[in-house]
Amino acid sequence: MTEGRSAVKHSDRGNGSLRVLFVSSEIYPLAKSGGLADVSAALPMALAALGAEMQLLLPGYPKALEAAANKSVLLELKDFMGTGMTRLIAANTPDTGLPVWLVDCPILFQRPGGLYQDERGADWPDNARRFAHFNHVAARLALGELVPDWHSDVVHANDWHTGLLPVLLDARHGTRPATLFTIHNMAYQGQFPGSVFPSLGLPAEVFTPDGMEFYGGVSFLKAGIRYSDHLTTVSPSYAREILTPEFGCGLDGLLRQRERHLSGILNGVDHRLWDPARDPYLPENFSGRDISGKRACKAALQHELGLAVTPDVPLIVYLSRVTDQKMADVVLESLPAILERDAQFALLGQGDSMLERRFQETAQLYPGRLAARIGYEEPLAHRLHAAADMLLHPSRFEPCGLTQLYALRYGSLPIVRGIGGLADTVVDANERTLRLGTATGFVFRERNAQAMLACIDRALALYRQAVPWRKVQYQAMGQDFGWDVSARDYLGLYQKLAPHAAQVDIAQQVEPPLEGAAD
Ligand code: ADP
Repeated sequence: MTEGRSAVKHSDRGNGSLRVLFVSSEIYPLAKSGGLADVSAALPMALAALGAEMQLLLPGYPKALEAAANKSVLLELKDFMGTGMTRLIAANTPDTGLPVWLVDCPILFQRPGGLYQDERGADWPDNARRFAHFNHVAARLALGELVPDWHSDVVHANDWHTGLLPVLLDARHGTRPATLFTIHNMAYQGQFPGSVFPSLGLPAEVFTPDGMEFYGGVSFLKAGIRYSDHLTTVSPSYAREILTPEFGCGLDGLLRQRERHLSGILNGVDHRLWDPARDPYLPENFSGRDISGKRACKAALQHELGLAVTPDVPLIVYLSRVTDQKMADVVLESLPAILERDAQFALLGQGDSMLERRFQETAQLYPGRLAARIGYEEPLAHRLHAAADMLLHPSRFEPCGLTQLYALRYGSLPIVRGIGGLADTVVDANERTLRLGTATGFVFRERNAQAMLACIDRALALYRQAVPWRKVQYQAMGQDFGWDVSARDYLGLYQKLAPHAAQVDIAQQVEPPLEGAAD
């Protein structure tokens, strides 16, 4: 077993502080497929620093069980929901030492492949059962039915994988923890045929159109939205957008009904992991004040990816899931035009296998100028941000987006579509913002290749002017998207939702008054 730094035991009650069960299907570095994992690691850490007592809960995937520190078996459940033995493993996150419980049910979680999919990328056929089981364990823990002397004041559930938890708690008579459900992405809904409903262990009355039924099927996301006490999503703009048919993914009507209980709180950056001044993955470190190391990072990366080592040719990076959401199809079709503009392009991503293949085929046509790396490589992601001059991050929709926040911090100016969290975090470089000193990147609005290319042209034009480029880079690197403010917003919300629980005195720690914790 590995030792965790500053380990906190699961049963420590601090000074009688607010107790939160934070339930997620991904927590970095134990399990990650995207931004949810980053948020589920950094936000609880920031909340713990403010004084909340955070207990994490994660499925016991093989790699998570391997990587967790200070493991011990806390309890055993014999044949819980007909799935053989389930053990609850108490552990700590290996990097930050936060207490985490892992739901170790071998029949459901001990398998090769991904978190939600098999090795060929097909969804596990029993995903409804896997996450229903996870939610039932979570509900019983939250209610104090499993671990002696432990129950939570607030349950913070995240995305569709935890959508049944608010239903289970809502169905409880008597006192129960308050529920907060955070939507990280409306596009992933956890929809299954109606025939699975009887196996989910839920009260029959919730399987109606007014409950969690969605056109005859069941929707875990709809369940979370419908039955939680409060809802958040991960940026203020996305919170407004999902009330519309364009972004609401069929649930905008329900969201409008729940509008009074919905707020948008922007995600943050974990500065422990994403700081070019002390990032261990970089060949040289640098900062906004002294950016000289970035040149060495660019040269090393060009060499690593087989690109011509030319310091003055602008390097554009695309670092993302290769999916429709991230406009990967539009990027692919625009590559010849981008490369015509005397720029280099490097891609790191995985997702749609057809698009992956076509990116690789296209790369063969442009040796030394276009590199396409398919796969998921955390260290390379850091090196790309450090090396790039620009990050191309167009999205059809974007709940928050972390990638552009990392790019800002690493002085790689983001070229983004002005929607969702991208609109909330990147300030377009135009005459006015350049004059005011507020520009941090380049923003386009229309969802097509022409608009994207025109925006790339604006970025390339500024790149050729060394002084204003450097100034915008400096401004971008100085943006503070740390978790402090957002974590206080979440804590304010927890306290509103659970007014009778022990309160953390955030007033003493907050300079500006809380906002964003609406309703
Ligand atoms: P989303 O959660 O929609 O995928 P975000 O921008 O919120 O998008 O978060 C994506 C996270 O995953 C970031 O930490 C990003 O650096 C990382 N990431 C995405 N694709 C890869 C990849 N192929 N290799 C390494 N990291 C990746």
